[in-house]
Amino acid sequence: MTSGSPLLETYLKQQRELYGDRIYLTDCDPDMTTETVHEDLNLSDELKEYEAQICDCMRCELGNTRTNFVFGSGSPQADIVFVGEAPGQKEDLNGLPFVGRAGQLLDKILEAIGLDRNDVFICNVLKCRPPENRDPLAGEIEKCEPYLKHQLQLIKPRVIVALGRIAAKTLLRIDEPLGKMREQTYSYEGIDTLVTYHPAALLRNPNLKRPAWEDFKKIRDTYLNPD
Ligand code: URA
Repeated sequence: MTSGSPLLETYLKQQRELYGDRIYLTDCDPDMTTETVHEDLNLSDELKEYEAQICDCMRCELGNTRTNFVFGSGSPQADIVFVGEAPGQKEDLNGLPFVGRAGQLLDKILEAIGLDRNDVFICNVLKCRPPENRDPLAGEIEKCEPYLKHQLQLIKPRVIVALGRIAAKTLLRIDEPLGKMREQTYSYEGIDTLVTYHPAALLRNPNLKRPAWEDFKKIRDTYLNPD
C-alpha cells in the first residue's frame, strides 16, 4: 500500500474486514493507482465509510446506553435531507431513524408529496438515544453536531428540512417559536433550510397537521416541481 491516502487505506481495510483477503485482492486491479481507486469511492461509499469511522463513538455518555448508533438512512444523492432530534426506542433497537410512530407519519407525509424515504436522506442531530427519550443535553449536541455537519457536506442536498425545535436550533442557531421559524427560508452553509413541526408534535396535536401540510406542499412545489 502506498502512503498518502488515508481515505483509501481506511476503505481498503474496511473491504478486507468485510470480505477477507480473497475478494480484497481480486478487487484490486494492479494497474490501478491510488488516485483512480480514490476517484471510484463514490458518494455512497464515502458515506458508508464515514459511518464506519464514527459508529463506535464514545464522545458522550450516550455511547454507554445505546443499542445502536443511528447514522441515518436514505439516498446519498438526496435533494432533501430531513433532520430530526434523536433516535427513540425503536430507532435505537433497529439502528434506523424514524421507524416508530412519528416515522410512520413522516412516511405518509412523504408519500403525499410523491416521495418515499429512499428518495431522501433522514437523520438526526443526535446519533444515539437519550435515556427515556429525554431532550438532548447541550453537551451531547455539541459533541454530535460535527457528524451532522459532515453528513450534510457530503450529501450537499438542495434543501434541508429541520423537523422540530432542536434540529432548527442546532442547525440555525436560532431559538424562536416554531410557528415563526417555519415562515422563512434560512441558509445552512449555503443550503436552503426550512423548519417545520416534528412529526411527534403532529401526533400530540393534530391541529398542527394543517400548517405542516402547507410546509410540505411548499417543499414539493419549490424543490420537487420548481416549474
Ligand atoms: N424522533 C426523532 O427525532 N428522530 C427519530 O429518529 C425518531 C423519533
